[in-house]
Amino acid sequence: MFQTLKNDFQICEEIGRGKFGTVYRCESPVTGESFAVKTINKNLLEDSIDRECLIKEPKLLQIVSGHNNIVHLHKIYEDDNFLHMVMDYCPNSDLYDLVSAGSLREPQAAKILKQVASAVHYCHHMGVAHRDLKPDNILFDRNGNVKLTDFGSAEWFVGCEGSVMNGVVGTPYYVAPEVLLGKEYNEKVDVWSMGVILYIMLSGVPPFYGETPTETFQAVIRGNLRFPTKLFRSVSSEAKDLLRKMICKDVFKRYSAEQVLRHPWVINGGETSSMADLN
Ligand code: ADP
Ligand code: MG
Repeated sequence: MFQTLKNDFQICEEIGRGKFGTVYRCESPVTGESFAVKTINKNLLEDSIDRECLIKEPKLLQIVSGHNNIVHLHKIYEDDNFLHMVMDYCPNSDLYDLVSAGSLREPQAAKILKQVASAVHYCHHMGVAHRDLKPDNILFDRNGNVKLTDFGSAEWFVGCEGSVMNGVVGTPYYVAPEVLLGKEYNEKVDVWSMGVILYIMLSGVPPFYGETPTETFQAVIRGNLRFPTKLFRSVSSEAKDLLRKMICKDVFKRYSAEQVLRHPWVINGGETSSMADLN
């Protein structure tokens, strides 16, 4: 099957590596255009859960791939040993690299959050929960716009109130407490993760962390959200208000992705002239 892929694309350098797959840049010999191909070696998948994720990833990505801020899936190749997904190529690094260089100013953070929330709202509308939102899965295209990727942990849920999922998935800093507690949960786990991402964009550090994954999990479950003055001195009260509504342990009170998009801080693009330093 690599052969079939190689008939259509020239495989170039490795650009990423993750849990299940290796990602390469590839080029169309016809147009010279660059794409990214995520290649999964099925023989390396250890258990039935891994296999299930493998089957779901291209299917779920296909469902939501029409949104501007979600990586577009162009082609799938599959045989007994490999699965290849050919997607948009995002050359401008990812949010992980951006926040590693330090915290962002509010307008830049608001622009990124708005695009991520728009992508997530679309996923939820289509009945898909991402379940592994974190800075490394938020890529930027040539124009600096967000392309959400990595639907390897995503799950299909029935898009009506009261629908639930279970199973512990996600990444320690970003995972919602109800997931860790082994409860049934819904798509609002994605809003919690987006809140953690926003907190990191504005302060440079995660809201809950420990020396070990277990300590981090304990901090998440306590869910004691604080805004240390040293880090949040110049962050506006509107931004903090939104953070409280996203990183909210009470799932019923926690904002939906749609509510995030309607919050004044997002609508005003993080421009807050008078409110900074009031709390
Ligand atoms: P995993 O499920 O293994 O984490 P990802 O889909 O997140 O796989 O891909 C791993 C890494 O590869 C990403 O964090 C990113 O750095 C890079 N990558 C993935 N897709 C693209 C893309 N379309 N364009 C550029 N880089 C990509
Ligand atoms: Mg990933």
